[in-house]
Amino acid sequence: MKAARLHEYGKQLVLEDIPVPDLAPDENLVQVKACGMCRSDVQLVDGYFRPYADIKPPITVGHEITGVVHKIGSIVPKSSGFQEGDHVVVAPGWGDGTCRHCQVGNTHICPNVRWPGFGPVGGFAEFLPVPARYLIKVDSRLQFEQLAPLTDAGMTPYRGIKKLRDAGALGPDRVLGVFGVGGLGGYAVQYARLLGGGATVVAFARSDEKLAVATAYGADHVINVKGKSSADVGEELKKATSQAQLDAIIDCVGAPEMIQLGFALLSISGHYADVGLVGDRIDIPLFPRVSREQTFHGSFWGNYTDLSEIMALAAHGKIRHTIKAITFDQLNENIELLRVGNIVGRAVMKF
Ligand SMILES: [Zn+2]
Repeated sequence: MKAARLHEYGKQLVLEDIPVPDLAPDENLVQVKACGMCRSDVQLVDGYFRPYADIKPPITVGHEITGVVHKIGSIVPKSSGFQEGDHVVVAPGWGDGTCRHCQVGNTHICPNVRWPGFGPVGGFAEFLPVPARYLIKVDSRLQFEQLAPLTDAGMTPYRGIKKLRDAGALGPDRVLGVFGVGGLGGYAVQYARLLGGGATVVAFARSDEKLAVATAYGADHVINVKGKSSADVGEELKKATSQAQLDAIIDCVGAPEMIQLGFALLSISGHYADVGLVGDRIDIPLFPRVSREQTFHGSFWGNYTDLSEIMALAAHGKIRHTIKAITFDQLNENIELLRVGNIVGRAVMKF
């Protein structure tokens, strides 16, 4: 089968023919139809994750995976209802099933987690085996290139906004900031509307082209922050919403300057959920965090339940997409474009 693999950190992916991976008895073999390209693919290539998880190459890259069930494992229970030809999405965090995080459904933060696309099997390949319990059947009318990014770009901000909602940070009298309108932020704006309980939604980014996407997806206001101080941005925010501070922030960037801006704008008792990973270190003043009783939420990817909820929204036609369809042969050139931030929406490889 065709596969795009990382053989050496810092080098391009090698597009090659390799054997179809073996199928364990509790797995289904998925024939990949589409796989989204994520900024974390670039970071994987660049070695960003190595201090945290030094994965040994060769790595089959690609973790936003959708396709059809090609073969069913020998002990996959009949009650799971899988049939060959079913359209599926792959829930990404494959836990050990035994720890307390797995027991409550958060398999993606299991200490023994495995992720497709960060090891031997991944989505930039024609086939991959997936533990059957991490496959979700989807409506066959949905398009593969739209389903693929929902497993990460379209799930990660969903979980983050659920955390803000569950913390009581959202409601009709609150202002929610969406930071970044790239692959994740376009979805974040829509979830801000769907889950925000009537909160005013303001999108922040450095590109008017990306902010236009936020407006199209229902942001009440957009602010271009390029070259502006936090005081300038606060003033624009006040003109737009009549308050200069944000009650909640979903940060889809995670760059040091955006985080510094975010905390400068965060209100008393504000909640900050970060799902972006552009930076690695931040320097922010401590006293206001304590004296203003602010809360920081780390929110990582999402679990089976999050993805099931998103599939329901997709089946109801409630999610819109900005997709750039690419071919297998165009993977490396698009990794370069993504590295410099030159992709609007999500690049999705289609077989
Ligand atoms: Zn576990």
